[in-house]
Amino acid sequence: MSQAPQLRLTNTLSRQKEDFAPIDASHVRMYVCGPTVYDFAHIGNARPIIVFDVLYRLLRHLYGQSSVTYVRNITDVDDKINARAAERGISIRALTEETARIFHEDVAALGCLKPDVEPRATEHIGEMITIIEKLIAAGHAYAAEGHVLFSVPSMSDYGQLSRRPLDEMIAGARVDVAAYKRDDMDFVLWKPSKDHEPGWDSPWGRGRPGWHIECSAMSWKHLGETFDIHGGGIDLVFPHHENEIAQSRCAFGHQVLANVWMHNGFLQVEGEKMSKSLGNFITIRELLASDRFGGKAWSGDVLRLSMLRTHYRQPIDWTARALDEAENTLETWGELVARHKIASAQPLPHASIIDALLDDLNTAAAFAALAELAKAARHDYSAAQNLANSAKWLGFNADSWIARAEESAVENLDPQFKADVERLVTARLDARTQKNFAESDRLRDELVVMGVQLKDGKGANGEAVTTWEVKR
Ligand code: AMP
Ligand code: ZN
Repeated sequence: MSQAPQLRLTNTLSRQKEDFAPIDASHVRMYVCGPTVYDFAHIGNARPIIVFDVLYRLLRHLYGQSSVTYVRNITDVDDKINARAAERGISIRALTEETARIFHEDVAALGCLKPDVEPRATEHIGEMITIIEKLIAAGHAYAAEGHVLFSVPSMSDYGQLSRRPLDEMIAGARVDVAAYKRDDMDFVLWKPSKDHEPGWDSPWGRGRPGWHIECSAMSWKHLGETFDIHGGGIDLVFPHHENEIAQSRCAFGHQVLANVWMHNGFLQVEGEKMSKSLGNFITIRELLASDRFGGKAWSGDVLRLSMLRTHYRQPIDWTARALDEAENTLETWGELVARHKIASAQPLPHASIIDALLDDLNTAAAFAALAELAKAARHDYSAAQNLANSAKWLGFNADSWIARAEESAVENLDPQFKADVERLVTARLDARTQKNFAESDRLRDELVVMGVQLKDGKGANGEAVTTWEVKR
């Protein structure tokens, strides 16, 4: 078997950039925490979806399409869902179905591949109950007043992922104080449901799961007790991922849940934290289909490029100016490719793109590599082809911007240049009509020097017509 080029990834567990070595190179396994489906996804939620989509593409490239399993869940049981359904006077099921459908449309518009498996929490209640029973049997969890809690002091090395000082973790956990807790840091695995709340029968009465156990159950079911990569936004490190690790490790008795933990940095909007109260909360849908941000609707490619121009671990400041820049860049790329009469692209990455991504998924460097290709594409057909193919492989809808550039090629020219060309073309046509071929040839040469190629033909009534295009 040929050796795959070395991928290096920053592992939140070790705080180091490490060589990536899958447990089984013929089956690379990745889990990413997906959306809680109660409302439109915002542009911050889009970040992990896009980032891990690029990683998925890279893994498939390195290990083979059929050797990678990407699981991204849908959280369809959550108190926020219950509250929103009640507020809107619709059923929980109607709310989660509608929200999941919108989410799928949004992320498809952003150029993201579907994960291999998209499990729903409500379809994994049995696995959750099994894990909770294992934890109780091993002394890592206890039932109290219809609740089941994970006993944090029962795990000697709890907290390895977040490495938070104990007092901070206690303060964080205190949000949820309750008499039935043995320790402030213990967290909920199962809780009782009132009659109007969604609930499932369990050994502890009718109830519903806590959030963290959902991901432990879904990753176990679809990827096994241990797997390669687990991802999500940086805010999930504590408590969500820390608690997933505690549950799965204590239930199955392994040293790790996933070998590599990857976290994307946060996105803020025009220099401020995104929040409903500040009024700068923007959904993917609004960016795609309204003029709420920057005065116009943006294509999925513009949003994708804006996201990927920053390395995934860095914070991003989401600005209308950056979107404008990304739009101009894509327009230029389309024009460069169309100029070489390349009509469509194949999803095939240039080596420089792969090299950039091998270094901790450095999409900023991959963007620089695309810019290099674009520079060379001014004169070089194969660079233009590599640009289009690499962009398509990265998830951009290159064919659409090539088509757009073809449509507007002449319209996009500098008006003065265009007027000059039109004048010379008309003068040449007049000279030809008067059989002054010396003059018409001289004018053609002048146009050639300007990069203009002429095509002589006949109009609808048999009259001489000359069309032109720019060949640089
Ligand atoms: P949530 O719906 O809050 O559970 O978030 C879903 C995913 O989006 C998680 O991976 C979060 O870490 C991520 N996320 C939420 N807000 C942001 C943000 N402003 N920037 C980057 N990622 C975010
Ligand atoms: Zn999760």
